Amino acid sequence: MDNNSGQNEQKSPNSGSKFNFYWIWGLIAILLLAYVLTKPNNVDNKISPTTFFENFVPKGYVQKIVLVNDQIVEVYIKKDSIDKLDVFKKLRDKGGFMGEIGPHYQFQISSADRFDERLEQVKSKLSPKLKDELVYTREARNSFRGILGFLAPFVLLIFVWMFLMRRVGGGVGGPGGQIFNIGKSKASLYDKDTRVNITFEDVAGLDEAKEEVKEVVDFLKNPKKYTALGGKIPKGVLLVGPPGTGKTLLAKATAGEAQVPFFSMSGSDFVEMFVGVGASRVRDLFKQAREKAPCIIFIDEIDAVGRARGKGFFQSNDERENTLNQLLVEMDGFSGDKGVIILAATNRPDVLDSALLRPGRFDRQISIDKPDLVGRAQIFKVHLKPLKIDDDVTPEKLADLTPGFAGAEIANVCNEAALFAARKEKTAIGMKDFHDAIDRVIGGLEKKNKIISPHEKEIIAYHEAGHAICGWYLENAHPLLKVTIIPRGVAALGYAQYIPKEQYIYRTEQLLDDMCMTLGGRAAEELVFGKISTGAQNDLQKVTQLAYAMVTVYGMNEKVGNVSFYDPSNENSFTKPYSDETALLIDEEVRKMIEKSYQRTKELLTDKREQLEALAKALLEREILFKADLEALIGPMAHEEKLAE
Ligand code: ADP
Ligand code: ZN
Repeated sequence: MDNNSGQNEQKSPNSGSKFNFYWIWGLIAILLLAYVLTKPNNVDNKISPTTFFENFVPKGYVQKIVLVNDQIVEVYIKKDSIDKLDVFKKLRDKGGFMGEIGPHYQFQISSADRFDERLEQVKSKLSPKLKDELVYTREARNSFRGILGFLAPFVLLIFVWMFLMRRVGGGVGGPGGQIFNIGKSKASLYDKDTRVNITFEDVAGLDEAKEEVKEVVDFLKNPKKYTALGGKIPKGVLLVGPPGTGKTLLAKATAGEAQVPFFSMSGSDFVEMFVGVGASRVRDLFKQAREKAPCIIFIDEIDAVGRARGKGFFQSNDERENTLNQLLVEMDGFSGDKGVIILAATNRPDVLDSALLRPGRFDRQISIDKPDLVGRAQIFKVHLKPLKIDDDVTPEKLADLTPGFAGAEIANVCNEAALFAARKEKTAIGMKDFHDAIDRVIGGLEKKNKIISPHEKEIIAYHEAGHAICGWYLENAHPLLKVTIIPRGVAALGYAQYIPKEQYIYRTEQLLDDMCMTLGGRAAEELVFGKISTGAQNDLQKVTQLAYAMVTVYGMNEKVGNVSFYDPSNENSFTKPYSDETALLIDEEVRKMIEKSYQRTKELLTDKREQLEALAKALLEREILFKADLEALIGPMAHEEKLAE
């Protein structure tokens, strides 16, 4: 993740460029060519033993038979017989026939004894003259071709091996030396001399996360305090959050605050190699760390090694599993009081093997989200500090302009702005430069990382406000906890969060209110902008599922009746347990139900248009609104009293 640190880049110069395999293909081609060229002439013509025994020999075509290595029979045809054989005639007509020399045919046999036997049989029926002419010899041969055929795979293997070695070994010591580095971890170490000089001050926002890692710092500084009291020492801490939100930074700052060495390695570094190497790197990493204890090991992208075992796309990946097992063993192998603490970062805690999350391993999780408005302003403050800026540039203004940006992108914006200003030979960076920089960063990241244009932000604000208003005024909706337009995860651009009621049985009205609330986003978009967007896809999916469930599973539709086609094992996925007419009816009723709900939602929102506008504006301004904020804006929740019952 962290491309900003010069140290990292120096230590693994290869890591950026993936090896290209073209020249291996070239090598293979050359070997194949050599193999073909060294083949004896004219032996492309394979014949079956039957043709040989029942045709060629009796007819007297054959001059000489050579049995090579008891395996291959080479057949030499008499000069005057060659013309009688079609294959050679054709070859000669084309001008491609090179030799009367031969061998002209060859075939493989499985047993030399049986070949001899059969040959004797056939020979015994020949005329004495033909019998005399037929020469039969045996040869043990180490042909060049044989050797090459034998060696080629090895040569190839050696080349491939050397190649990968070079890639794996890191940049130290020239091609020769690299081979010996293979099992060593290439963790970048920030030791006493290159000590991390990042502290918590460099990490803006993330207050809760900082609070949590402070305990780690405390322990590393003063382990006795903890062990004396018999307290449990954290061993592994998992930092969970999207890329660029400062996980690496926080880990480094932890080491910086505690004044201990910092080993950093990426999960993908473990697995890109061959069998056994990943595991040996883990071993080496922990060995080094133990020597330098107290210290911090940081493993970025731990999901690359830590994916749940045996669930991969390709059934299983033994190498990765070995590496993971080794990691588990190492983590169990030292008790926390040795002073080695492992921090790991991931964006996908859900794919991690549960063994990793067990007590004594990464049993602590700190979640790091993309920053909100205030957080972004704080991060801007940190990154603006070293810059010369105009007076009208403020962190708050910039935070306003950068919804959805993570820390890494903010750092990038500041850097780009400085470059823009420098190009224009200004003495200070102006707001215009920041605008340009933001545009550039948005352009570069549009696809990769969700970044939202101001117009989109408005649509999202109304969409989420629509959900929230429905939840606020519908009698049976879940009470709202908060609503935000800070993008989260891969799918959601914003979301409204509710406190689900603890209940297992729902009444029809509740489900219908739920449906309205889910449709609230699209309805608001239509009301306000007269247009609908793709942003509601997820909502519609939910609504459709719910509607079908109500009709076909819960028997909540009058026309379809009190029936349930619940099919938990999905056995009937091809044959539906109802007639085609019923299927039509179901589709129709589902459509009607959704349409009715949608109309109802639109009516509600039209009625509460004022509140909708107020909410959306507040969201645009503050990005996140809690229940109390909503109360202040639009009055108390309509059904609050009912909930108390
Ligand atoms: P991650 O490891 O979560 O992908 P990094 O820690 O590598 O993200 O962050 C990349 C860069 O983004 C950092 O080097 C820093 O410049 C900037 N950054 C991210 N979060 C913050 C933050 N909270 N405060 C200050 N800078 C940040
Ligand atoms: Zn929605």
